[in-house]
Amino acid sequence: MELGSRIVRTDVACTVCGCVCDDLRVTAEGGRIVAAEGACDLARPWFLGQTSHIDGRPELNGIPVDWDVAYARAAAILKAARAPLVYGLSRSTTEGQRAAVALADFLGATIDTTASSGHAPSIVALQQVGESTCTLGEVKQRADFVLFWGCDPVATHPRHIERYCPPAAPIFVVDSEETATAKIAEILLRIPPDRNWDALWTLRMLAKGIACEASPELVALAARMKAGRFGVVFFGSGLTRGRLAHRTVEALLQLVTDLNDHTEPDTRRRFYARRLRRYGDIAGADSVLTWQTGYPFGVNFATGYPRYNPGEFTAPELLARGEVDAALILGSETIFDLPSNAQAALRDLPMIVIGGARPTEDEGRGTLFFPTAVYGIHRPGTAYRMDEIAIPLRVLLPSDSPSDADVLGEIHRRLSGTV
Ligand code: SF4
Repeated sequence: MELGSRIVRTDVACTVCGCVCDDLRVTAEGGRIVAAEGACDLARPWFLGQTSHIDGRPELNGIPVDWDVAYARAAAILKAARAPLVYGLSRSTTEGQRAAVALADFLGATIDTTASSGHAPSIVALQQVGESTCTLGEVKQRADFVLFWGCDPVATHPRHIERYCPPAAPIFVVDSEETATAKIAEILLRIPPDRNWDALWTLRMLAKGIACEASPELVALAARMKAGRFGVVFFGSGLTRGRLAHRTVEALLQLVTDLNDHTEPDTRRRFYARRLRRYGDIAGADSVLTWQTGYPFGVNFATGYPRYNPGEFTAPELLARGEVDAALILGSETIFDLPSNAQAALRDLPMIVIGGARPTEDEGRGTLFFPTAVYGIHRPGTAYRMDEIAIPLRVLLPSDSPSDADVLGEIHRRLSGTV
């Protein structure tokens, strides 16, 4: 809708977190966004900070350079590298992720996403145990039991409960501390991080009716789980930290299988466990890597075909072992997901950063930065919500600046000698 120089767009999608809420009403005027109705406290400053003017030229070591010089420099860095790493991806969209995979394949590089510092143990567990999936829409329409385990959506995904949980469904929380979500929950069950696995196996036995030693709280929780007709557990970093975190997530997924494996003829109980994903398109990064390479993260092309091995081909470990000689980062903010020793290793490497905020002086020797248009603000694109539903992103402030896919494509063309 256009009102003079004001443009009002409805059903706008937000990619600030994995909820990808697509019901915002955004007003643009004079080349900037002046209102974002429906945006939460995390999203509003991000929208209101967007303008149609994308801050200028690429930078090398903080000094502005021409685009042609920057492309030549990026191609030279990657051509000289014997073990390059392409990392990040979760603040991009399908278009940028696909271009990143193509370039990594051409280079024989390793490509990895922020999943390796987040839900990697969950993905490994899913590969072992399998997953019953449901959409957030199904949760909203059908759930009568909602549990948040090791996550705090009120703080990290402020509209998750409003948008995706039925108002009548009681909220349960399992966590080691009283989080913001715990304050609005019917029940908070405090479990220290190193006891999650024990608690989940106890719940498995209770779900199967096997006699065991269990606290009254766990007995009550198991009873509420079994009484539900549609239950869902959203889980986060509280379950995915620690050396054997994949075993803990496996236990949760097996509990879900147990709850679905029942014989009561008058019950049609359905149970699910779903990851609470942090970035707006981390689910898309998993999906694009999987459909292009067969694997969701930590993929190495050095032998000419994709190889997958978490721990061997994942960015935190590769950087800590000093096995990377150049890095291409898609989305500057994804650097901060890496552990501190990996960030320190990155600072000593020639680094190309595409998109996101301009890196500061301390963020890397020889950093080459390309500013890019933002998907869902300046360019259309596709992001995947945390339940793997594709959400289209529309243009709010048109811009001629290149997207990250354009920058990656140009570097790829220069390396392959087609320009
Ligand atoms: S909950 Fe997440 S996706 Fe929804 S408006 Fe807030 S930041 Fe954006």
